[in-house]
Amino acid sequence: MASTAPDPVHRRGPEAVSSQPQCCECAHLPARLPPGSPPQIRLEPKSEAIPVPTDSKAPARITFRDAVGGELMRSPLEILQINVGKLCNQTCVHCHVNAGPNRSEQMTEEAAEAALGVLDRFPTLTTVDVTGGAPEMSPWFRRIVTEARKRDLTVIDRCNLTILLQPGHEDLAQFLADQRVTVVASLPCYSKENVDAQRGDGVFQASIEALRLLNSLGYGRDGERHLDLVFNPVGASLPPAQGPLEAAYKEQLAEHFDITFDHLYTITNMIIARFESFLRRTGELEGYERLLEGSFNPATIPQLMCRNTLSVSWDGYVYDCDFNQMLDLRLENGSALRVGDVTPELWDSLGIITGRHCFGCTAGAGSSCSGALT
Ligand code: SF4
Ligand code: SF4
Repeated sequence: MASTAPDPVHRRGPEAVSSQPQCCECAHLPARLPPGSPPQIRLEPKSEAIPVPTDSKAPARITFRDAVGGELMRSPLEILQINVGKLCNQTCVHCHVNAGPNRSEQMTEEAAEAALGVLDRFPTLTTVDVTGGAPEMSPWFRRIVTEARKRDLTVIDRCNLTILLQPGHEDLAQFLADQRVTVVASLPCYSKENVDAQRGDGVFQASIEALRLLNSLGYGRDGERHLDLVFNPVGASLPPAQGPLEAAYKEQLAEHFDITFDHLYTITNMIIARFESFLRRTGELEGYERLLEGSFNPATIPQLMCRNTLSVSWDGYVYDCDFNQMLDLRLENGSALRVGDVTPELWDSLGIITGRHCFGCTAGAGSSCSGALT
């Protein structure tokens, strides 16, 4: 059991250090837009982006724990996030673990069944969030969805859109619609050139086609089938305000492509893996770290997703969040825990593993797999 909490939100405990990146999820990756994008399709209102500070006399660095005033406390578990593996139909140039058609890391039946055990052990659970790779390529994807929906849980599919058009997946969109699965898809720009440069030739057109297919099935239109899009900044800046950007996305996608969707999530680029390498290459690492630290917003803390989320990897280990999973910061109780070992009592007793990367969640309006926090 962690030490005594100073208040309902914080408690004291050790901070962890990061190690190796582990998994890939489109929504967490930095968009790379080449210069010269047409103004009417540029999605990042540059005037709203907060620039990286260049003042070498910036204040001394603080730890995340000191900023928070202690260790984060858990609230009841509401979200089970399952990363089913690294198999993907795309091979995006920015994919920091090189997910692709030849990756063999896939959730086993044993690990999938162990993850499903959480559905009945945690009565406070409301949502199952499935990610990858392309999660729909897992042989266990549909079983996970149907078991969760049988229990009337919300299911989120982190979808790359193009999988909906792939041979062998012709019935996938209808399956998602029938199950009322919420589709969350990364669409970093309206521009064919920018999207194809980041995600591969032909991805933009396929994404538009897939969004139209989803719209035709009621997604983003009927109030029952939710379609959400994800945006993250081009580089070392905080995302612009989520509300106005969502309005701009809606206007542009409707006008140019007759596409509608429900919500836009803005997500802060985390200093993890490939984006960290990018910052080192461009000499922006320290400035971006200081930007995140200097933008620390205590109002985000009650909403941090690690407080109510259990994150499971393709090989059945458990983490506080998808970011900790990328950093291989496994939850332990003497030894690394597997999902089948986790009970509500044990989960509540484990301290949340935090580190300097956590400033990415608390900067500005905050950031999570569901966008801004405040
Ligand atoms: S679509 Fe696949 S390859 Fe591209 S970023 Fe997402 S997981 Fe990686
Ligand atoms: S990265 Fe964010 S969600 Fe994960 S432990 Fe840190 S604050 Fe929590």
